[in-house]
Amino acid sequence: MSSIKTAIVIGGGVAGPVTALALREAGIDATVYEAYNAPATEAGGAIMLQPNGLAALELVGIDRQLQLVGQPMRRQLFEHGDGKRFAAISALSGLQPALMVPRGELCGVLHEQAKARGVAVEFGKRLIGVDEQAEGVTARFADGTSAQGDILIGADGIHSTVRTLIDPAAPSPEHAGLISFGAPAGPDATPAWLKEDEIHFVMGKRAFLGYFRMRNGRTMWFSNLPYDRPLTGEQARAVPQEQWWAQLREAYAGDIPAEALIASSSPDDLIVLGSMEAMPPVPKWYRDRMVLVGDSVHAPSSSSGQGASLTIESAIELARCLRDLPTPAAAFAAYESLRRKRVEDIAATAAKTNSQKSGGPLARLMIRALAPVATRTFLTPEKMFGPVHRHRIDWARHVTADQGAATQDAKV
Ligand SMILES: Cc1cc2nc3c(=O)[nH]c(=O)nc-3n(C[C@H](O)[C@H](O)[C@H](O)COP(=O)(O)OP(=O)(O)OC[C@H]3O[C@@H](n4cnc5c(N)ncnc54)[C@H](O)[C@@H]3O)c2cc1C
Repeated sequence: MSSIKTAIVIGGGVAGPVTALALREAGIDATVYEAYNAPATEAGGAIMLQPNGLAALELVGIDRQLQLVGQPMRRQLFEHGDGKRFAAISALSGLQPALMVPRGELCGVLHEQAKARGVAVEFGKRLIGVDEQAEGVTARFADGTSAQGDILIGADGIHSTVRTLIDPAAPSPEHAGLISFGAPAGPDATPAWLKEDEIHFVMGKRAFLGYFRMRNGRTMWFSNLPYDRPLTGEQARAVPQEQWWAQLREAYAGDIPAEALIASSSPDDLIVLGSMEAMPPVPKWYRDRMVLVGDSVHAPSSSSGQGASLTIESAIELARCLRDLPTPAAAFAAYESLRRKRVEDIAATAAKTNSQKSGGPLARLMIRALAPVATRTFLTPEKMFGPVHRHRIDWARHVTADQGAATQDAKV
């Protein structure tokens, strides 16, 4: 039985509201403190939630609301720049399809549900420091206010402040050698054959592009352009949109249908995201009464398609450990044991995908030659995705202090 009654959750993105909702189920009262003045319901782009993340959301009762705003993706199609398909992967047998959810809608649903179930969320609260006591922790915010709780959870994203408060020597996010963009294609540019429940991934001649048909009939595309220097979102957005657009047109010249999709977009609609980033392994996940969850501790690059799903899993496992173990130290240790291997394995796989995306013509030729055989033989969809997508959390099962370590050995 836990001695922990209250939690301060820093960050109101994905990890924050889900952790707070799961903690409520675990009998712990959590308040979320978000730096911005409102939930990020206007944020652009879309997030693909995978079956493992959707199953984890069911545990906090948020799955149905998301199905209303999301778009099921039943097949993933992999193509070369000349339009030839080299693999088609359907949802694995017995699993629900992945769900594409606009980023803003995901945030909106999470905040709506948190509010409806009595989770307090305070906006305009940017954490700048903490004071630790033997029996609790005080969070200090930039507006001069503070808050107290038994524990503090850093759900403050890939550029986490809590990570550095836990360990001043903690690593920072790394540039994956790619910069990311997205945009809706022009209203008349959607190919007639493009289905609403299929997502296409193209290994083009010089760069990677993904695209899918949105519910409004328009095509959304997203690009990862090889780029050797790190560039924050802010730095990338300081470059005129027209300039990026011209660079994208050049990079995808001759690629089907990338060239036409990009040409049909308006440069004004370009979503410029900057460097694709990933967290290297974080040595310290917790210290005393502070712990990390989500991108602050295990952000795989977006090539994994797993960032949000792993975040949701971790939020729920953390609440489960805090529910069942008597002290923060015991709960945090079990939580790390349950999660570390799985999230680091997935991040390592995504890093390999990135080197293919940023690789030169030789890497592309290798993919072209090997992919069709590989996906039919040793690299079947079940082998590639089964261990990741079939992962389930047994919420009802009691966590014991040594269970985490045992699970660590057994799971992907
Ligand atoms: C381009 C892109 C595409 C992606 N696509 C996918 C995808 O298809 N599928 C997928 O699963 N994942 C995807 N991801 C990853 C996914 O978005 C993240 O894994 C997920 O948002 C992590 O949630 P989080 O709550 O940990 O962090 P965030 O969502 O970043 O939330 C952190 C929150 O903390 C707040 N905050 C930060 N500092 C402070 C502070 N000092 N005080 C108070 N609040 C603070 C921030 O304002 C923010 O609201 C993508 C990411 C990117 C960048």
